[in-house]
Amino acid sequence: MIKMNHIIREGHPSLTTPSKPVLLPLSQKDVDLAKSLLEYVKNSQDETMVAKHKLRPSVGLAAPQINQLKRMFAMHVEDMDGSIYSYVMINPEITGHTSEETYLPGGEGCLSVDRPTEGLTPRFYAIKVRGYHLDFETNTAKPIELTLEGYPAIVFQHENDHLDGIMFTTKLYPTLPNAFPLFETEDNVDLEHTE
Ligand code: ZN
Repeated sequence: MIKMNHIIREGHPSLTTPSKPVLLPLSQKDVDLAKSLLEYVKNSQDETMVAKHKLRPSVGLAAPQINQLKRMFAMHVEDMDGSIYSYVMINPEITGHTSEETYLPGGEGCLSVDRPTEGLTPRFYAIKVRGYHLDFETNTAKPIELTLEGYPAIVFQHENDHLDGIMFTTKLYPTLPNAFPLFETEDNVDLEHTE
């Protein structure tokens, strides 16, 4: 299982290198990788596992963060209505987005960034995406199209950036006059890292 010592940190060249498309049909190795990414994210939301394995809480993890330059990431996130968005996305593409931009008022966080960061990261409020996802019943990659908005859309964009070698730390701004804060709270709501 993936633990914190498998996750590469800021400064590692793989974090700024674009990943390669995953070959389909999925190899057994890539099925295992897909499952382990999602397992980390789910474990990191389980207090017992967090304490036992010293995991940092997260809502997403991309393959390049464990030094596998493959276009694949896991997300496991609940939106404001309590709906769960739990996917391993494979070769995803953003095919459309709102012009409206949003941001997390407490800033984003990342399992690959250990230092505190200051600044706001603009994200499209809603996105249309397509690609493949891991079908857990058949262990195959199935085509998928999704429309995401709000928090799950922000998580998707953060993870998708990792596949292009883009860190959120390159997208930090003191203010975003043309974007609106996603939450009205001053609480720090980090992406891959919640405290
Ligand atoms: Zn990240």
